[in-house]
Amino acid sequence: MIDKETSIAEIRQKIQEFSNARGWTTGVNPKDLAMALSVETAELLEIFQWVHCDHTDEIVKDASKFEHLKEEVADVFWYLIRICEYYKIDLATAVESKAEKNAKKYPEKL
Ligand SMILES: [Mg+2]
Repeated sequence: MIDKETSIAEIRQKIQEFSNARGWTTGVNPKDLAMALSVETAELLEIFQWVHCDHTDEIVKDASKFEHLKEEVADVFWYLIRICEYYKIDLATAVESKAEKNAKKYPEKL
């Protein structure tokens, strides 16, 4: 799967099937999913802990660290999708709607 050839719907289906096959959708609640999202976000942040902002781009040069970064990004996305599944949120619509609100709140300066 690569971004250019994969729809959000396909990713949602893959995550849902994976979760269903392991019984991870039974008894699930949005609070636990949001907490898991927060934990995964913290794990992503941990990669940058104590790394000077001038050196954050160097993470890609370390294969192990870069792999870890990609894993945590995937974990964050995973739980975001699980929350969208739970509430039947169409992510593309939600992002578009929020972008429209942000455009009004933060007008272009050019
Ligand atoms: Mg993780």
